[in-house]
Amino acid sequence: MAKIIVIAERCKSCGYCVKFCPKEVLAIGSAVNSKGYEIAEAVHPEKCNGCAICGRMCPDGAIDVYR
Ligand code: SF4
Ligand code: SF4
Repeated sequence: MAKIIVIAERCKSCGYCVKFCPKEVLAIGSAVNSKGYEIAEAVHPEKCNGCAICGRMCPDGAIDVYR
């Protein structure tokens, strides 16, 4: 199963990863990083297919995908 890791301190809460994930794995969470941004998180990690669209869409390079 594929897995994604959001690098919390890089996330700016833009929501691109949430919008473009075809499996609706991601959502903006309630946890906040040191810059005050709410961090994207995997709310349905079991659905992740490893396509890496989230990582490509993230303007801040905040998502690593492991397959
Ligand atoms: S790798 Fe693909 S399926 Fe998994 S969270 Fe990213 S966009 Fe969604
Ligand atoms: S695309 Fe990147 S910066 Fe934007 S919410 Fe997702 S992880 Fe955070």
